[in-house]
Amino acid sequence: MTYDVVIVGAGVAGCTAAILYGRAGLRVAIIEKHHNISTHKALCGHFVLGGTQPMLRRTGLWQAMVDEGAAVGGIARWTAAGWAVPEPGLPECISLRREKLDPLLRTLAAGTPGVDLVLGRTVTGLMESGGQVTGVRVGDEEIPARLVVGADGHRSPVAQFAGVAEDVAPNERFGLWAYYRGVVPRGPAESQIWSLDPDVGILVRTDDDLHMLVAFPAKARLADFQADRAGALERFMASLPDAPDLSSAERVSKVIGTNDYPCVKRDPAPRPGLVLVGDAAITGDPTPAVGCGWAFRAAEWLVESTTPALLDGWDLEAGIAAYRKALGFIVSHDRFSRQDALARPMNPVQKLINKGAHRDPKLARRVYLFAMRAIPASDLINLRTLLRAAWAATRP
Ligand SMILES: Cc1cc2nc3c(=O)[nH]c(=O)nc-3n(C[C@H](O)[C@H](O)[C@H](O)COP(=O)(O)OP(=O)(O)OC[C@H]3O[C@@H](n4cnc5c(N)ncnc54)[C@H](O)[C@@H]3O)c2cc1C
Repeated sequence: MTYDVVIVGAGVAGCTAAILYGRAGLRVAIIEKHHNISTHKALCGHFVLGGTQPMLRRTGLWQAMVDEGAAVGGIARWTAAGWAVPEPGLPECISLRREKLDPLLRTLAAGTPGVDLVLGRTVTGLMESGGQVTGVRVGDEEIPARLVVGADGHRSPVAQFAGVAEDVAPNERFGLWAYYRGVVPRGPAESQIWSLDPDVGILVRTDDDLHMLVAFPAKARLADFQADRAGALERFMASLPDAPDLSSAERVSKVIGTNDYPCVKRDPAPRPGLVLVGDAAITGDPTPAVGCGWAFRAAEWLVESTTPALLDGWDLEAGIAAYRKALGFIVSHDRFSRQDALARPMNPVQKLINKGAHRDPKLARRVYLFAMRAIPASDLINLRTLLRAAWAATRP
């Protein structure tokens, strides 16, 4: 049997694409190398930024996550200019640990008519004919499809099988975090981020009444965090302005983290019949917590762009071109994230915008929407913003 779509990888991007293709009436196979539906990605902070809220609500995934106990709310940001607190009505963030999110998405995908979730099978190669990708290989077995979707994460074996080039940029921060019960936030919101320039601290309220304490320090401080990672993490959090009260807090997980996580970008439509989505297309800096949101949203753009061709025989390459264009939203944000990932001190323009936003609610709103990835990067980074920031910052 030839599927309309074969998706490699049942993570955030793969499951979302499978659910939406299935709902559109297409025949989909989603192939996941892990046997157990509950196996989840450990290296993920799962804080989904507010820019993803409309998509999650449209698709019903927001409510499904809330029903699993997800924590919902805004995030306050500390910079040298002071606290910036989101005003009511701005898009909210959502956080559900991957140990709940991954099984939820896989269960929803498996329950969608037209979708076959195939667990415990590793895609080992691509089927090709005349330069066109025509399906995938799982060992000796061939699974043909009209469209192959690589949703197989930041290392993307599918991209490697297709010989796709990688655009890699350095990340000069490392990251570590752990889950705690009994944390009392002292800042102006339940979830908070401290931009210490260049170190970053984050406090995230998540499901099951837990908080995540997160540190993304510059790599120059790596040695300070090696010997006693939990102690170093707690000392780092305690040193933050308006630091959370940890006196009654209990750590309920091991310390999780990564010492090196470069940014990777690949052509999202490298060959006829093949597209990449989620981390396989763009793996951004984890510090601003963008990856799951991008994976959800890119999957929706992919399905919207290609379904008319797959369903009604319209031009598939035109649909894929529309998907590539939609991804431009992520690419333009990723350009700035790559600069931030260098962990250099804030430049005068960033300082001016932060200072201006602290005095001007309209600018503060725009900065928040940018941080939530709810507006195109160009809506903040432009001459108008600079002039407004200069006006606000120099007002008596
Ligand atoms: C330190 C860190 C912190 C992060 N924190 C956040 C955060 O707070 N918020 C946020 O939004 N994002 C965060 N991210 C990013 C986020 O984890 C990723 O962007 C997101 O998981 C990407 O989803 P995906 O579906 O593209 O890939 P994945 O979730 O990685 O899924 C890929 C799937 O493909 C499967 N697979 C791989 N190869 C094969 C194969 N050959 N055959 C079959 N199956 C295969 C894998 O088993 C996996 O299930 C963080 C990342 C890191 C590293």
